[in-house]
Amino acid sequence: MRLSEIIKEIQKLKPVEQHRLKEFFITSLSSLSASEPVFQEINERKNKEGYTCTHCNSKQVVRFGKYMVKVGLKEVERQRYRCKDCKKTFTDVTNTPLYRTHKPDKWIEFIKCMLEGYSLRKSAELIGGVHYVTLFYWRHKILAALNQMDFDKFSGIVEMDETYFLYSEKGKRNIKDRKPRKRGGSSRFRGISREQICVLIARDRQKSTFSGVLGRGRLVKSQLEEAIGSKMSPDNKLCTDAWRAFSTYAKSKGIKEHYRFKSDGVERVRGIYHIQNVNNYHSRLKGWIQRFNGVATKYLDHYLSWFQFLDIIKHRSDSGSISKMIVESCLFPINETYQSLRTYEY
Ligand SMILES: [Zn+2]
Repeated sequence: MRLSEIIKEIQKLKPVEQHRLKEFFITSLSSLSASEPVFQEINERKNKEGYTCTHCNSKQVVRFGKYMVKVGLKEVERQRYRCKDCKKTFTDVTNTPLYRTHKPDKWIEFIKCMLEGYSLRKSAELIGGVHYVTLFYWRHKILAALNQMDFDKFSGIVEMDETYFLYSEKGKRNIKDRKPRKRGGSSRFRGISREQICVLIARDRQKSTFSGVLGRGRLVKSQLEEAIGSKMSPDNKLCTDAWRAFSTYAKSKGIKEHYRFKSDGVERVRGIYHIQNVNNYHSRLKGWIQRFNGVATKYLDHYLSWFQFLDIIKHRSDSGSISKMIVESCLFPINETYQSLRTYEY
């Protein structure tokens, strides 16, 4: 059929059908124009120091034909590679969140929904054609990748503070010991107990940030060493609250300048030394995480990485932020599979 004939046919449609056709074209054409530059950037960032084998890290990699992917309405061609050492083939997205996906364009829409803070159900409605349970897996594949974003060393002043989240098995089936708590709930114990999960935020004034789960119960020195030991040096100037684990840690690390601030709030600032940046970070984090009505402890690290990423992009959901999130999450290999994520709910 010629185009002029197609147009004639379109003119015969009812207005509401014409409108649907228009929407169909806009969605499929814009998904192509949105996803191709992103894919291009993944390709360039990944291979900026030459090709590397995804399976064995060998540099003995050759290009090995093309494969086709459907994006929107169009088929596009992508590069495949082969490793001369382990003989396996791979692509730029092997073992990334986009691996084996048949809907690369829908991922971009989903990232936008994540940045907007929409629930999985609402996201599924907006995207169309993807079940919200599938989106739960997409969410955690992306977060498992972002969780690997890292930096080398802290510099200068480092603020540290711990905060606690209630232990939660949200979504786990057959909880035997006790009735599942709904919506976070409250602990059976006063103060800090094994029911509480310690989260550390450490941040220097360049905003290099560590945010991660240290374990159950009160913060102890060995957890600090394990979590951030490689990033700290004796030259760092440490600002913390008065909890003794920080002092023993600073001593063992040979840190000469350690500024402690009691939580009674009498002295909050000593010149340029304070812990207000991490304290603010805590309260923004706690405010943000409320929308999930309790997070399974198993996934707390994922949500901490999510918030950290939002903090980096200043909570903007423009196209620059969308492509940054998808590109960054495709730079790290992930082991999470549908199987490993399956036992928890959404
Ligand atoms: Zn290899």
